[in-house]
Amino acid sequence: MTECVFCKIANGEIATNLVAESEHAVAFNDIHPAQPIHVLVVPKRHFTDIADLAAADEVVLLDLLKLGTKVADEMSTGSFRFQFNTGAEAGQTVFHAHGHITSRTPRL
Ligand code: 5GP
Ligand code: ZN
Repeated sequence: MTECVFCKIANGEIATNLVAESEHAVAFNDIHPAQPIHVLVVPKRHFTDIADLAAADEVVLLDLLKLGTKVADEMSTGSFRFQFNTGAEAGQTVFHAHGHITSRTPRL
């Protein structure tokens, strides 16, 4: 059992419409979108933040980065941000590694 909300989303304990999935990561819409496109990309396994993930498993890291850029390319016109808030003072509120993909220019 885990209390981590992104572990619960990744393992299906919390039903969520996934935008995309790869071997090691899932992508889903942020519950409070800040821009017309706001997708979170998270590893299926628990890591505290992107630094923890990068130090621990470069296969999962690359898989997550590739899934995120694929989703961003498919959903936007090619202009997007892919941001990893790391640490509470940088605005991280969920301590399961995740990247935010945001874009103001959805592909219609
Ligand atoms: P952070 O501030 O840690 O970088 O980003 C956490 C993000 O997760 C926030 O943008 C917040 O809206 C989103 N979030 C938190 N809980 C949930 C949830 O249960 N479902 C979804 N889809 N997004 C969530
Ligand atoms: Zn977790």
